[in-house]
Amino acid sequence: MSKLGTVYLVGAGPGDAGLLTLRGAELISRADVLVYDALVNPDLLTMAPASAEVIYAGKRANAHAIPQEELNQLLVTKARQGKTVVRLKGGDPYVFGRGAEEAEELATAKIPFEIVPGVTSAVAAPAYAGIPITHRDCCSSFTVLTGHERPDKAESSIDWAQLARDPGTKIILMGVERIGGIMEKLLAHGLASKTPVALVRWGTTGRQQTIEGTVGDIAEKIQRANFQAPAVTVIGDVVSRRARLNWFEKRPLFGQRVVVTRTRQQASQLSARLRELGAAILEIPTIRITEPNDFNPVKDAIVGITSYSWLVFTSPNGVDHFAHWFFKAYDDIRSIGACRIAAVGPATAARLRALHLQVDLQPEEFTAAALAKAFKKHGGVENLNVCLFRAQVASAELPQSLHELGAIVDEIAVYKTVPETEDRNGAVARLQEDGADWITFASASSVESFHNRFDLPKATKEHGWRLLSIGPETTAALTKLKLKPTVEAKPHNIDGMVAALLKSAGQSAGR
Ligand code: SAH
Repeated sequence: MSKLGTVYLVGAGPGDAGLLTLRGAELISRADVLVYDALVNPDLLTMAPASAEVIYAGKRANAHAIPQEELNQLLVTKARQGKTVVRLKGGDPYVFGRGAEEAEELATAKIPFEIVPGVTSAVAAPAYAGIPITHRDCCSSFTVLTGHERPDKAESSIDWAQLARDPGTKIILMGVERIGGIMEKLLAHGLASKTPVALVRWGTTGRQQTIEGTVGDIAEKIQRANFQAPAVTVIGDVVSRRARLNWFEKRPLFGQRVVVTRTRQQASQLSARLRELGAAILEIPTIRITEPNDFNPVKDAIVGITSYSWLVFTSPNGVDHFAHWFFKAYDDIRSIGACRIAAVGPATAARLRALHLQVDLQPEEFTAAALAKAFKKHGGVENLNVCLFRAQVASAELPQSLHELGAIVDEIAVYKTVPETEDRNGAVARLQEDGADWITFASASSVESFHNRFDLPKATKEHGWRLLSIGPETTAALTKLKLKPTVEAKPHNIDGMVAALLKSAGQSAGR
């Protein structure tokens, strides 16, 4: 029998991916099996190794995608196969959500387990809505209760009379559809009808919504607004503090749904900036990096690495894949020999420097022609062996201009890009379900590959998407599809893109 694996019941936090714990992140990054719920931010799934088996246990109200008993069994079976199982649960694993039952099942089956607490929505959703759950002046305790007792329960386990008397803050998870009944019970037991109440929906995420009222009128308000689950209900005087402490919903891009098309390193930088400004980001990868068709050329090039005078890199991916093969063959960086190193683009150069490799040459402009010119300055490359480590299918311009300078060029494919067809972070599904305000493009190739995945002209028309282009080349790629960007960034970089979105949001807010 194989060694038993461990099951980790990990709190994924309330929605904002940044609220996952360090321990949680570490465990996800080495999971063999990852089982997650509907309320888990799917962006966290991308932290798992590509080889991990990712299973959706989607639980919502009474519709269970995998029945609880089957799910418990699944955790046991996978652990018995010796796998590291991460059971990712929304918020904190022991705050409702049946985490305790799962742990008990593991204990019975004698499977080693660990609990990794998480930031619960009970505390975090109010905090992101500007509601502190305690305050020295009014509320020195809080109670968290379920608004959704098991439907088969004959008698309530909640002492409503006691609760109505208690001056502390009351926080209700689940049961948005039962709020009317709950308020009536509290009123009947003497809670003042003027007591402030707020419901926070999809708290801590870019689609957070808050509705405010009183114990007396909140039920009618949520009905009128068709306010739906998942939401946290907060009852108590602390709710009134929101008037001063509401920070998250005041961010300039709050409420904007922005698609960041990921074909470049820049994408994560853009996402991070926009998230800070409050936008809800859907990162949609349109290409995927895979292995080249043939490994022999790269192996040969690495074995003969000292025969090259220059190594040339044109992308951070090229550097990463080169490093992978290099350290497979050698365990000493000095084996690289005395060759010099050229990098096209600052991101490529940065990746080389991260490996403690100095970049000898970096052209001023990011074009093949500029690189050739720069080599000339470095004494030329006539009769020198030059090795280009890059993607399997890449432009012929660079090797051509090096040939013209008299170099003996080896073009080595260290990786290959293929169209992305999977939806690992669930962003495509969310785009289809909830739509988007903006689609952002930071390169002409991202326009092309996004169009390959979604028929861009058709979808833009159908969904009324606004298009943001980083600059003229990207705009030209849109023009080819008979599309016009709503805005072209100025300057043509990430700063310009962020500024364009802020300006547009400011204009619509002022309308
Ligand atoms: N273990 C979870 C709670 C699971 S019960 C935790 O600690 O947060 C599921 C309920 O949690 C939902 O019905 C809703 O009331 C609440 N919830 C979870 N995430 C939420 C979010 N982002 N915004 C508002 N409510 C949320």
